[in-house]
Amino acid sequence: MKTSRRQFLLLSAGVGSSLVLSRAVFGATAANTISESDPQARAVGYVADASKVDKAKFPSFAPGQSCANCSLFQGKASDAYGGCTLFGDKQVASRGWCSSYSNI
Ligand code: SF4
Repeated sequence: MKTSRRQFLLLSAGVGSSLVLSRAVFGATAANTISESDPQARAVGYVADASKVDKAKFPSFAPGQSCANCSLFQGKASDAYGGCTLFGDKQVASRGWCSSYSNI
């Protein structure tokens, strides 16, 4: 079966739209989410779940603190993931935390 140029263009537009839509619906992907093992994340003690913060190592941590209510978080508090000014284009979990937490 031979694909016409028109069919190719329509198929390409459909695939592109699907990718944009899936990103909008599913949000952060593994590719754009900061990993706890990333050297930059390790430098500030980032964890994707604030309940896992090592309180002995980070005594400044207080219950209730998380990326969602940090002033450096770029997403909405209701977002599962959002940007952080520390990590460029990588996203952090709204339930996460790191030692650069600020609520100022
Ligand atoms: S600076 Fe704030 S938003 Fe960024 S990782 Fe640390 S706690 Fe989360």
